Amino acid sequence: MNYDRILIRYGEISTKGRNRKKFVDKLRKSVRIALSPFPNVKIEASHDRMYVLLNGENGIEIIEKLKHIFGIQSFSPAIKVRKDMDELKQSSLDLVSSLYREGQTFKVTTKRSDKTFELNTDETNHTIGGHLLQNIPGIKVDVKHPDINLRVEVRKEAIYLSCQTIQGAGGLPLGSSGKAMLMLSGGIDSPVAGFLSMKRGLEIEAVHFFSPPFTSERAKEKVIDLTKKLAGIYGSSVTLHIVPFTEVQQAIRDQVPENYTMTSTRRMMLRITDALRNKREALAIITGESLGQVASQTLESMFAINEVTNTPIIRPLISMDKNDIIKIAHSIDTLEISNRPYEDCCTIFVPASPKTRPKREKVIQYESFFDFEPLIQEAVEKVETMVIQPNREHHQEFEDLF
Ligand code: ATP
Ligand code: MG
Repeated sequence: MNYDRILIRYGEISTKGRNRKKFVDKLRKSVRIALSPFPNVKIEASHDRMYVLLNGENGIEIIEKLKHIFGIQSFSPAIKVRKDMDELKQSSLDLVSSLYREGQTFKVTTKRSDKTFELNTDETNHTIGGHLLQNIPGIKVDVKHPDINLRVEVRKEAIYLSCQTIQGAGGLPLGSSGKAMLMLSGGIDSPVAGFLSMKRGLEIEAVHFFSPPFTSERAKEKVIDLTKKLAGIYGSSVTLHIVPFTEVQQAIRDQVPENYTMTSTRRMMLRITDALRNKREALAIITGESLGQVASQTLESMFAINEVTNTPIIRPLISMDKNDIIKIAHSIDTLEISNRPYEDCCTIFVPASPKTRPKREKVIQYESFFDFEPLIQEAVEKVETMVIQPNREHHQEFEDLF
């Protein structure tokens, strides 16, 4: 018995009231992009669910793709049946027979959103259950822990049969929460922060600080590769801004006492990222900070650094332990790239013992003897912006889709 469609349940989207249409449109777009290798597939979306009509395409491969799309709570391979009792009985029998192995139990769970259907929920359960018991030798009913749960959904336009519910990735459809700038270093944490933000529906643009000749081209390549991985999660391009940071860092080294250079470096990075955010019309900044992990991530440091902006700063990893972060990095395939041994701009000029409890007033005072603003403006102007594709060969295909 072949399923002819996959029924997708939205989960959280369905609580979004008047914004629901926007969420559904974004999800539909994500599904289209992910399923672009299957040209015969058709997508039908309504306010509370979506159907992927297989039209002969490979259902198993499609299921694998759907598992990674944010905004899908769960999905089920399904069969559409006309609202005719004989056809319903026959299709139910075909489906359950194709799955049944000796000694297994079943139950029928009917949901009826169309109350005009000739049988009510209990009657439908009994009629189909009876038909299966009569025609599948050895099958038994178990309403508590059935091996096969045949779901019968009676809707206005048709009846849908399914036996399997597959967990989706959860979260919200990509782009449905707006856009934020991800501060992307070459480390383990920031790509994970990017992934978790994307899961909550944020579209991201990555910002990387680069200090030639102190940081090498290979460090830059590493960040491009990480961005490519993040782009792969969405299946479409991610913009990456490379900020030339050498002059700002040299000015900090010349102006600020050594044990405050790290604090000041972070403040300048944040000011530049915020200026870029403004230019790119994003509404937040994402970092990979985790409380107490290193000197720049103590509460005192964050208090001193965060002072330069009141833009929301999203820190998805703030309460996570390193081991848990590493697990996610491994699962999204960024860990190996992050472990490549190239230097980061923050590791150059960094004092042997940066202040773990910097004072806000002090750093403000140290910075007050020099006007950093022109250097910040210059860095923003000289940013190199690239559009990173997950996989170049697919680029054209995606463009044709919309
Ligand atoms: P990561 O593993 O993400 O590099 P980390 O544990 O090494 O984090 P830090 O180096 O203190 O911690 O960086 C904290 C956060 O600051 C990073 O997660 C990232 O968001 C941002 N950041 C650090 N260096 C850079 C950089 N060169 N370019 C852009 N953002 C950076
Ligand atoms: Mg780092």
